[in-house]
Amino acid sequence: MGKITRITVHHTGEHLADTGLDEGEILRRIERYHVETRGWAAIGYHLLVGRDGRVWEGRPLTCQGAHVTDHNPGNLGITVLGDFTRYRPRPAQLAGLRQALAVLCTQHHIERRALLAHRDLRVTACPGDALYAWLRAYRSA
Ligand SMILES: [Zn+2]
Repeated sequence: MGKITRITVHHTGEHLADTGLDEGEILRRIERYHVETRGWAAIGYHLLVGRDGRVWEGRPLTCQGAHVTDHNPGNLGITVLGDFTRYRPRPAQLAGLRQALAVLCTQHHIERRALLAHRDLRVTACPGDALYAWLRAYRSA
């Protein structure tokens, strides 16, 4: 992993209301997909923010993530459950994300301008316009 110098924010891209699945099942599906289909050691993100703002650990912060092609070393990956191309994040999710980012920035001496969205690094809609707008406001505050 090396020294952590930046954090990249993602969304999972599926909307829970559409899938009809509970959150535990969504997390298990992400894990199965990353481990069994993609062959990674564990879930590709370091942290996942649930609908209620709870933050789950995907893989230890000491291990390199698998969340942005060619940009994983030193880059923590945090994803928010949902599809924010179509929906707005819940206030509780944003509160959970804000708290997680604040703690990580303090612990690892990361400046707010080193908080990135997936789309800042690759051509992708991730993490959706709604979450991207929030992140831009947060990092420039
Ligand atoms: Zn992403």
